[in-house]
Amino acid sequence: MPVYRESGSLEAVIDDVLGASRDMDVETELILVDDGSPDKTWEIVERLASSHREIRAARLSRNFGKESAVAAGLELALGDAVIVMDADGQHPPALLPEMINAWRAGGVDIVEGVKIDRGSETLFSKAGAELFYLIWTRLSGFEMRGASDYKLLSRRVLDAYLEMGERAVFFRGMTAWLGFTRVQIPFEVPERASGESSWSVMRRLRLAVNGISAFSSFPLHLVTLAGIIFFLFSLTFGGYTLILQITGRSVSGFATVILLLLVIGSLLMISLGIIGIYLARIYDELKGRPRYIIAKVLGAAEVVPISNKNV
Ligand code: UDP
Ligand code: MG
Repeated sequence: MPVYRESGSLEAVIDDVLGASRDMDVETELILVDDGSPDKTWEIVERLASSHREIRAARLSRNFGKESAVAAGLELALGDAVIVMDADGQHPPALLPEMINAWRAGGVDIVEGVKIDRGSETLFSKAGAELFYLIWTRLSGFEMRGASDYKLLSRRVLDAYLEMGERAVFFRGMTAWLGFTRVQIPFEVPERASGESSWSVMRRLRLAVNGISAFSSFPLHLVTLAGIIFFLFSLTFGGYTLILQITGRSVSGFATVILLLLVIGSLLMISLGIIGIYLARIYDELKGRPRYIIAKVLGAAEVVPISNKNV
């Protein structure tokens, strides 16, 4: 569970989750990854960890973002299966038995919670998410509508996930890429237990750009495509202009020249921007920095996550 600024409701949510897991016949460990929360979240996590032996926790050295926090939790997990869920109560623990039963029945490696509606998000953010999933699905070829991070992965899948070496992790996309047999369990997103979502428009946009550039190089080919279209256009238009010139019918084309300059100028700059996005990703991956830094661990301290070993 990635946890960031959840001091208001964390205890209640953990109670629910532990309650649900105790009703089932499974041995559970609950891993809380505090994503560098500035509020009292870590104190609450410490208190919870000291009173429940199922809880292990790690505190990241600063806010690395949800994706990195999830990666940290996955690397720490020891179980035969692992479930990723939000700490804000928006992933109902009532689904846990269903997920575990689906996995135990066999033949299924990924059990994914699918949002049937997006809860009380604003129209703008719902539309943004829809648009992102539409583009992502088209470009990457993996279905992701309604996807959430509420997923169960079997050990097999988790091991395959841990093999994926990218620094900029994107859990939803990476599990889609992994394949394996999966079943979906629809759920309605309840209200946040307290506080508010910490995803600003900018952060969502960044996640979208990262998500798309990590799973498709189509935008790069788009640049080539635009180039080809413009080349064909330039052949016809160039020929036409020459004929006008030769036959002495050429008119003064100031407006045309300005328009062409503007269009081509913007196209070039957008193209450079697209190349820049991929270049930046290559640069980030090349630096090979760890996905996150762990400052403190609680419970089973001898377990060292993979990212912090010398890979
Ligand atoms: N979260 C995190 N790091 C962050 C932001 C969020 O670990 O920088 C956690 C947060 O505590 C919650 C989950 O990610 O458990 C989902 O966050 P949120 O509810 O803000 O996102 P939303 O549900 O609006 O997508
Ligand atoms: Mg939430």
